[in-house]
Amino acid sequence: MVKENFERPIIKKLNIGISSKFGMKTEFEPITHLDGVAVKDLVKEHGSPLYVISEKTIRKTYAEAKRAFETRYPKVQFAWSYKTNYIDAVCNVFHQEGSWAEVVSRFEYDKAISNGVPGNKIIFNGPDKTEDDLHTAIDNNSYIHIDHFDELYMLIDIADKHKNKPKVAIRVNMDTGIYPMWDRFGFNYENGEAWEALNRIMLSKKFDLAGIHCHIGTFMLTASAYAIAATKLADLAINLKRKFNHNISYLDLGGGFASKNTLKGSYLLGIDTSPSFDDYAEAITTTLINSQIEPENLPVLILETGRALIDDAGSLIGSVIANKKLSDGRRTTILDIGVNLLFTAFWYEHKITPAQDFSQHTEVTSVYGPLCMNIDQIRESVSLPPMKRGDNVVISRIGAYNMTQWMQFITLRPRVVMIDTKEKAHVIRDHETNAAITSLERMPEHLKLNK
Ligand SMILES: *Cc1c(COP(=O)(O)O)cnc(C)c1O
Repeated sequence: MVKENFERPIIKKLNIGISSKFGMKTEFEPITHLDGVAVKDLVKEHGSPLYVISEKTIRKTYAEAKRAFETRYPKVQFAWSYKTNYIDAVCNVFHQEGSWAEVVSRFEYDKAISNGVPGNKIIFNGPDKTEDDLHTAIDNNSYIHIDHFDELYMLIDIADKHKNKPKVAIRVNMDTGIYPMWDRFGFNYENGEAWEALNRIMLSKKFDLAGIHCHIGTFMLTASAYAIAATKLADLAINLKRKFNHNISYLDLGGGFASKNTLKGSYLLGIDTSPSFDDYAEAITTTLINSQIEPENLPVLILETGRALIDDAGSLIGSVIANKKLSDGRRTTILDIGVNLLFTAFWYEHKITPAQDFSQHTEVTSVYGPLCMNIDQIRESVSLPPMKRGDNVVISRIGAYNMTQWMQFITLRPRVVMIDTKEKAHVIRDHETNAAITSLERMPEHLKLNK
């Protein structure tokens, strides 16, 4: 008798809760503390609204992602996506953990350098690199990810001016079964453009062709799309080996892993539907390990994960300004947090939790911000207990993109604090002042009122 293979059963928790036609109640317990620090104390000391970053959560999430990949693949390197959150202290937590920097502009590139990241640990992505940017990147031995032929021709033109061979990769776009396809960045795989770019790079003999890169989208809910992407990148690597006997040193699968936020219009919560790091790692590493790439030449796997590494670490504390009834009788709560501070409110059903004890009675509430604009809505309808003016709320999972896409609109941007692993809060970005904002403005002489 042949012994059947045993497959371990798995149990997955579904937090569906009691939902009504207005969706799910967001929380059942108040959030009175963040990493051991009382929300009320934070507000007293730093004001409201207030961004709070948990250093502990960043390190824990990073360790989870690293473990998921390193247990499955021998050579893994993360590169922190600056545009996801480029507050310097946040970047440096990732750099301390071993992350390189992934930047998409000169502004971000210079930030990485001034944070102390060595040039040869910076990946320079993006369609907009000037000739001067490229010279700097070559001098610093950074990895230049070429986005289009015009950039390649510019590089071919300037490469000889340098003693060191520029280290380059190309960005590849492709059909991974997810639509709309992100085909405006990089060279297309299916129509042969990516292969042509690689041929031109090899034939020019001017470059150290170090890697092949893709970034297939963001908040990707299908882990298998990464298996397709890895297959196509591996295919290019194998063809390079065959035709030029060239081994590339890395494949960069980009970012795009979903965080645990809940997308607008989704019935189930993000914590139940977003793939885990293990799911993504399984899809990518299995493909690479099973590919035709020789085992001794397996490239380093680079990941530019942004959102999934930082979303959970960020919270936004706010205060209730007022309660009102809309003309149809619906309850409305106005917070001091507007979409200028919570850009992701346009995509996510953010979890809003009172920061003090509340009654079990809840009411369907529309939550607005303080801006004089109709679009300034944080939640269209959410079950919340009644709160009074001055009460605090905590909006969770806001670490990704809000501290970069925020706007200085109508109000000044508030402080950002980081709570370290010993439960001590540090100001990592101060609140803006009128003087700081207007210091960039210039008043023409004839318009001065107080001469
Ligand atoms: C934005 C971006 C990332 C990070 O994407 P996430 O969806 O936040 O993981 C990585 N690589 C490139 C090239 C990007 O533009």
